Amino acid sequence: MTKLWAAVVLAGCGGEPADAVAPDAGPPPPLGTLIEPADCRGALALYGVAFQDGPVRQGVEDGITATVPINGISYRVLGAAAPRGTLFADCRLILSLARAASTFRYHGVVEVADLGVYNYRCIGSGTPPNCPNGMSQHAYAMGIDLAGFKYEDGTFASVNDDWVIDPGTQKTCEADVEPGLDAELHSLICDLKAAGTWNIVLTPNYNADHRNHFHVDLTPGADFIRKRRHDP
Ligand SMILES: [Zn+2]
Repeated sequence: MTKLWAAVVLAGCGGEPADAVAPDAGPPPPLGTLIEPADCRGALALYGVAFQDGPVRQGVEDGITATVPINGISYRVLGAAAPRGTLFADCRLILSLARAASTFRYHGVVEVADLGVYNYRCIGSGTPPNCPNGMSQHAYAMGIDLAGFKYEDGTFASVNDDWVIDPGTQKTCEADVEPGLDAELHSLICDLKAAGTWNIVLTPNYNADHRNHFHVDLTPGADFIRKRRHDP
């Protein structure tokens, strides 16, 4: 960011040709791409996300409490009377939500109904940190469960009620969908995954535990929208 800005300033004042600093800058990003600072907090500032540090919670590396709405998108615990005023998560998860906002806006989503972020627990059975199937990303505040989406015309798409589970022979993002909200939910979560917003996305196709929400998280090194627990 600083280097690119310097290039603009130098080119503008006529003291140096722009080429003198261009090689360090690398190829230009695609049009419409924000150039984010490398640090999470600096990137949040770019998106206009207000936050406070902490509180300290077991398992959470970089916990912050962000002011909601996040980059213009409201969040509400499913069924709650009022939207969230704040949301506690690892800075990196909050940043992923700030990035997700452009996809939400493209789809006309104004508010997300969620089932929560932080929960110090294992995947499946066990007691942290002794987890036979690994620690849940919720234990690190690096995952969130998305239960539904409110659109600008007031429509609410419920993962539990409107997502039709796809046949086992079809991939989630290539499946035949029912017209209406099932199609929209598929399009939305597949656009979010394609945009690289989260590393792992689990839908109701995955297993019965996920019938009523999309689980999305930032598991390091992972990159999939998984269809079934035992699928390759
Ligand atoms: Zn989850």
